[in-house]
Amino acid sequence: MINITLPDGSVRQYDKGISSMQIAQSISEGLARNVLAAEVDGQVWDASRPIEQDAHVKLLTWNDADGKSTFWHSSAHLMAEALEALYPGTKFGIGPAIETGFYYDVDFGDKVLSSDEFKQIEDKMIELAKTKEEYIRKPVSKADAIEYFTEKGDEYKLDLIKDLPDGAITFYSQGNFTDLCRGPHIPNTGFIKAVKLMSLAGAYWRGDETRKQLTRIYGVTFPKASELTEYLHMIEEAKKRDHRKLGKELELFAFSEKVGMGLPLWLPKGTALRERLVNFLQKAQVKAGYEQVITPHIGHKNLYVTSGHYEKYGADSFQPIKTPQEGEEFFLKPMNCPHHCEIYKTKPRSYKDLPVRFAEFGTVYRYEQSGELHGLTRVRGFTQDDAHLFCRPDQVKDEFKKVIDLVLYVFKALGFENYTAQVSLRDPENRAKYIGTDENWALAESAIIEAAAEKGLTTVVELGEAAFYGPKLDFMVKDALGRKWQLGTIQVDYNLPERFELEYTGSDNQKHRPVMIHRAPFGSMERFIAVLIEHCAGNFPLWLSPEQFIILPISEKYEEYAKKVSDILKDSDICGLIDFRDEKIGRKIRDAEVKKIPYMLVVGEKEAAEGLVSVRKHGTGDLGSMSIEDFKEQITKEITV
Ligand SMILES: [Zn+2]
Ligand SMILES: [Zn+2]
Repeated sequence: MINITLPDGSVRQYDKGISSMQIAQSISEGLARNVLAAEVDGQVWDASRPIEQDAHVKLLTWNDADGKSTFWHSSAHLMAEALEALYPGTKFGIGPAIETGFYYDVDFGDKVLSSDEFKQIEDKMIELAKTKEEYIRKPVSKADAIEYFTEKGDEYKLDLIKDLPDGAITFYSQGNFTDLCRGPHIPNTGFIKAVKLMSLAGAYWRGDETRKQLTRIYGVTFPKASELTEYLHMIEEAKKRDHRKLGKELELFAFSEKVGMGLPLWLPKGTALRERLVNFLQKAQVKAGYEQVITPHIGHKNLYVTSGHYEKYGADSFQPIKTPQEGEEFFLKPMNCPHHCEIYKTKPRSYKDLPVRFAEFGTVYRYEQSGELHGLTRVRGFTQDDAHLFCRPDQVKDEFKKVIDLVLYVFKALGFENYTAQVSLRDPENRAKYIGTDENWALAESAIIEAAAEKGLTTVVELGEAAFYGPKLDFMVKDALGRKWQLGTIQVDYNLPERFELEYTGSDNQKHRPVMIHRAPFGSMERFIAVLIEHCAGNFPLWLSPEQFIILPISEKYEEYAKKVSDILKDSDICGLIDFRDEKIGRKIRDAEVKKIPYMLVVGEKEAAEGLVSVRKHGTGDLGSMSIEDFKEQITKEITV
């Protein structure tokens, strides 16, 4: 008998050679129907694979990330089987699972596959899936593996086998199709109920552009048809919300090749939105004891030699700017921390002065390859809502709690209700990798864990994910479509205070090193606004809307009155505009709806005579007429965060 330990800690005894599937069946038939694979002592295995010794076993279903990726990888085999049936002689490269779905790199010889043929392939996959073919694992010798694929004439598989050690090679077969694969796979193809091929791309064999270009086919599959429908709906919705598309339609930002790729130009409306976010955070920061500072966009090479950035990133970053006469070398600022360290050093600090908190909306520049650039989420110049807190080791926990408060305040004001926090700690097995004393690490790590717990955050702890210079806490938010984004971050740093020889005088009159905390609730203005646009589909909270109202005069006769209303609202810091076009009122309303302007104020004869506005709310409809004063009061209340 062997002992099987389940995730809840319970231990069950089974005969040697039991499979995870049989373990699932012994627990409940319902569970067994959903088991896709199993994690056995930390490795993902086929559910049918016999377990020969005591082990920790976790049964994996569609709800586990590893269960899903096993499902999708197995779907790549199913697609390959369908392709081989439909297009005999097809050769296969690799077919991994990816974040959403899978792909297979395929060589069709002279044939060029078009997406018109997707339907045919999908139908074939479903037909094969219905026969519930089992995925059968078979260890093979290297010689046999080479013989099999030589006979089949698949040079890609032979190329892969060449690098594999004899004795570690396995084949998997389902139906008439056999593939070289390490596994694992789902029990049989019958689990795959819905299939959608998504797109085609070219992919060089082994990523090497001197070798043949294969056809990469992307697909996604689900255990239920309804999940595919939901997924396709989500993709459609994501396309509509794409911040690059909305950014253009709402005239928020633009890119110009002449200015340079990856360098966003903020248009007036985008700037208004961004400024409001800045003011909002700045106000909260002042309350929380931060001091605002400003530093230049470039820094002397020596600054980055001291900080260590030069040695680490110098060669891969933007190249230096040289002065013509003095031969000095400057770098575009990749981060604000070194500048802030120098600000800390401008005067002696005592333990009573700490913590000091320097905040800056600092624009930084980082080189990204042009192919990696993407809208506002991957750019070459961006502004961090950065701050550096310099504190004593015993203040770390309190500072963390205050930063968590600030981050949660920001999320709440902007409607991100669904978030988790990841605590990244040191790898306890490999302490040599990290700088700073054991004592300080222990202090900082427990400070972060306790601060997060005391603030009631839902956290996941990741060992070995800390930076070499300190532990950190990262916030992940889920947007309205359920997509995950990493936003705010808080990081402890023992490295820079050391490199910059930062000091304070302790109560013992001795010199001590302060601890530095980097934090950015938004992360960067660019990325945050991109996420915000997609989260709210361009329907910003009223206080952030670049245009909060639009006045729609029914005819030219009421323009004077429209101007009067506009002036009254603008006096109260409510921004908006007047639609002076000679258009029918219905058309004006439709256009304002497209621009997602929160309030439309229709003014005609009655309104002008009685000092009223007829209010329509975007997405809601007619709110009836009210006095200018009442409208002003209502909107002011709504704007106050
Ligand atoms: Zn496989
Ligand atoms: Zn920093």
